[in-house]
Amino acid sequence: MDDMPFMAIGTDELDAYIGEKAICPNCRQMHDVQYADEVRDGKTYPSKLLGFVKCGENAYVVAIDGRALS
Ligand SMILES: [Zn+2]
Repeated sequence: MDDMPFMAIGTDELDAYIGEKAICPNCRQMHDVQYADEVRDGKTYPSKLLGFVKCGENAYVVAIDGRALS
């Protein structure tokens, strides 16, 4: 378990609740916010835990648990 990916984010790094669109960290344009489904027991469930925008071939995380990353 030592090499589990770990992401530390303090509450002061989280902004207001995110809307339908967010500014892309890559190109600074507005993109639709999408959410990664949560996979549990081989089934996928909609989840708002991880919000991201797609820019070209890449995805950029913009929200954690519905709150925008500043
Ligand atoms: Zn972009």
